[in-house]
Amino acid sequence: MNDQMTTNSIVKLDSVVKKFGDIFAVERVDFEIGRGEFLAIMGSSGCGKTTTLRMLAGLEDPTDGDIYLDGERVNGKATWDRDTPMVWQSLALFPFLTVQENVEFGLKMRGVSKVERIERARRWLEKMQILEFANRNISQLSGGQKQRVALARALVTEPKILLLDEPLSALDAHLKVRMQSVLSSLQKDLGITFVYVTHSMSEAFSMADRVVIMSRGKIEQIGTPQEIYREPRNRFVAEFLGSANIFTGALSRKTGVYWTIEAPDGSFEINAGKVTNKNEGDSVTFIVSAENMNVRPTGSQPNGITVTVVGEEFVGATAILFVETESGAELKIQKSHDEFSSLDTRPGSKLAVHWDPDHCHVLPGE
Ligand code: ATP
Repeated sequence: MNDQMTTNSIVKLDSVVKKFGDIFAVERVDFEIGRGEFLAIMGSSGCGKTTTLRMLAGLEDPTDGDIYLDGERVNGKATWDRDTPMVWQSLALFPFLTVQENVEFGLKMRGVSKVERIERARRWLEKMQILEFANRNISQLSGGQKQRVALARALVTEPKILLLDEPLSALDAHLKVRMQSVLSSLQKDLGITFVYVTHSMSEAFSMADRVVIMSRGKIEQIGTPQEIYREPRNRFVAEFLGSANIFTGALSRKTGVYWTIEAPDGSFEINAGKVTNKNEGDSVTFIVSAENMNVRPTGSQPNGITVTVVGEEFVGATAILFVETESGAELKIQKSHDEFSSLDTRPGSKLAVHWDPDHCHVLPGE
């Protein structure tokens, strides 16, 4: 094993750069992936997620930096010499082969005997609950069944790492959730490392052990879903998650365990334990999540402001109320329909919102 890798990592990216002409698709990315870990890579379109995955697969070579797979530096090593199959959104199944032949394909390429190929392919088809379709053409399968063929085809070679590029994005919502649980239990049962690129926060946060958030070729944050959700590192991550209300102000005075912050919409208190390496007069940015905002018809509350309703959106059992502060900042409040039912939530009406100073999280990267 390479001495730069920690004992438990199976993947290491060391200052990896990928340029296409003058464009930095990936700009000095460093991270390691643990053996048997489910890592999701998220970020807005064009942030470099797929390029990162393609470099792991050997479909792109880094312009600079090193990639290690299971202790071996793999820069320049061809795709077919790596143990990193990939499952694509498009699935890329061979339409002219049957289900069984599709699954056997990788084994055939590796020179595995026909008898062993058939036995291993059937074992995987059974595991993916599609053995009954073994002799069908790909065109005769549903979206979810095709997905299972693609997984069987990738896993039949028993790789240590499986790369997945938005594999569920073409499925409808119901099937997506079902396939999420198939993928999760498959990954846990097999103990294979999954590297999963997605746009979908719900997919990443429900399945992954850790999530990487990328923007413009760089990593903004890497951590467990809970860490990222509760403690986003900077404004980009907080905005990307979409559920946080962001406030910026200056530290004005410290009383007991609270700092007072002067912000455009008023003075707010914040737990001093959350403010590190800052002094009076310094700027701080903190967030309060939409579900931690309290709302009343009127009246002034400590740590509160008056807002104007802009609109409301139903999200299953809850609703999100979009409101605007006097300084024009947009905030979100998420509550059950019951909690909103006693309030006038028509656009233009005024409401009083407040929050607990202990529910603020200071963005350390700001
Ligand atoms: P999406 O979610 O839209 O798939 P992404 O995060 O996967 O985006 P990448 O496909 O990795 O993004 O692309 C990162 C950047 O590199 C983009 O600006 C893209 O236009 C550019 N890029 C990717 N592949 C190439 C290529 N083969 N030639 C030139 N530029 C490329």
